[in-house]
Amino acid sequence: MDYYGSEITHLIEQLSALPGIGGKTAQRLAFHIVNMPREQVKKLTDAITGAREHTCYCKVCCTLTDQEICPICSNPKRDHETIMVVESSRDLAAYEKTGKYHGVYHVLQGAISPMLGVGPEDIRLKELMQRLQGDVKEVIIATNSSLEGETTAMYISKLVKPTGVKVTRIASGVPVGGDLEYIDEMTLLRALEGRVAL
Ligand code: ZN
Repeated sequence: MDYYGSEITHLIEQLSALPGIGGKTAQRLAFHIVNMPREQVKKLTDAITGAREHTCYCKVCCTLTDQEICPICSNPKRDHETIMVVESSRDLAAYEKTGKYHGVYHVLQGAISPMLGVGPEDIRLKELMQRLQGDVKEVIIATNSSLEGETTAMYISKLVKPTGVKVTRIASGVPVGGDLEYIDEMTLLRALEGRVAL
């Protein structure tokens, strides 16, 4: 299907490899890009390259950031004795948007999924357990309510309980299989406030 010329075809292929971008959208974006002013294209490619080059995982909470320690972990005003465990940096962003959570986070960068071959050692659990050796009063498990999220929550609670740190799980009411990032702020807050001890 090389009727566009190989350069455009190549661009379409690269775009359609992105999540949520089908063939038609990739085609539309590709034609938009080749018609954009050159300096605007440069800004776009620089932004992509820069974000990829300078993004790393926070040494404390494992969220994506461009600093060694992310702004939340390095903020002395946050409650560092309360750790909310989430699956992704997008989930962290969803809770941050509520503006009502003052603890810190731990980002697992995934969830346990036997079906997909993702085991406990493939997510940032070791890092969480290391943090519990410091002063921690509560671990709030806010993984998604999908099968993977629930499996991960159970696994974490079994790991954390013997350490004596209080473990809670956000209340259900969050739709099953629902990604935290698509849930409105009120629902998130209600889930947080209604959390139950495990
Ligand atoms: Zn951090």
